Amino acid sequence: MSAHLVMLGPPGAGKGTQAARLANHLGIPAISTGDIFRTHVAEHTGLGVIARRYMEAGEYVPDQITNAMVRDRLARKDALEGFILDGYPRTLEQVEALDGMLKDQDRGLDAVIELVANHDEVVERMLKRAAVQGRMDDTEVVIRRRLEVYAEQTEPLTRVYGERGLLVQVDGMGSVDEVTEHMLAALAE
Ligand code: ADP
Repeated sequence: MSAHLVMLGPPGAGKGTQAARLANHLGIPAISTGDIFRTHVAEHTGLGVIARRYMEAGEYVPDQITNAMVRDRLARKDALEGFILDGYPRTLEQVEALDGMLKDQDRGLDAVIELVANHDEVVERMLKRAAVQGRMDDTEVVIRRRLEVYAEQTEPLTRVYGERGLLVQVDGMGSVDEVTEHMLAALAE
């Protein structure tokens, strides 16, 4: 199956976990912009130094920087057969940029999966994760800001993709296995 997929959903909804499982199932790479940024931060690259300032505050890294990074990543050989984008696009400008990148490569999206998650539940999940992983942006204040930014800048994307007939909504609140099952069933429809 040709699969060019996007995973949407608020912070803490389980996008990373589900994207990795789906990627494994379909034999295509999961591409997480958050993970790429975190690698840059850990390696103290120029991009990492810039990205860190935004990530620590729960703000989005500027579109121009993020778009250029994704363009490079999608041009790599392993992404030519398909991909799951986890955490990109997150702004309307990123939607347009992605449209352009895919058009240049003569391809388009097949589906956009929205993991639908309850606000209080995701805050709780992220605070638990903070205790284990110590992510710099998993403090309560920053989590609240990330949810706000998501509501303002990313939630509108569900309408855009809905109008294109690409949106597949999946309840993200079950167990990890249940969510994967629901997602695979929804994609097969
Ligand atoms: P979450 O979905 O839980 O917020 P991610 O790992 O996907 O976690 O993202 C962490 C941070 O990385 C974001 O808060 C943001 O600062 C930055 N980031 C990731 N993806 C993007 C993007 N597409 N555009 C701008 N910033 C991004």
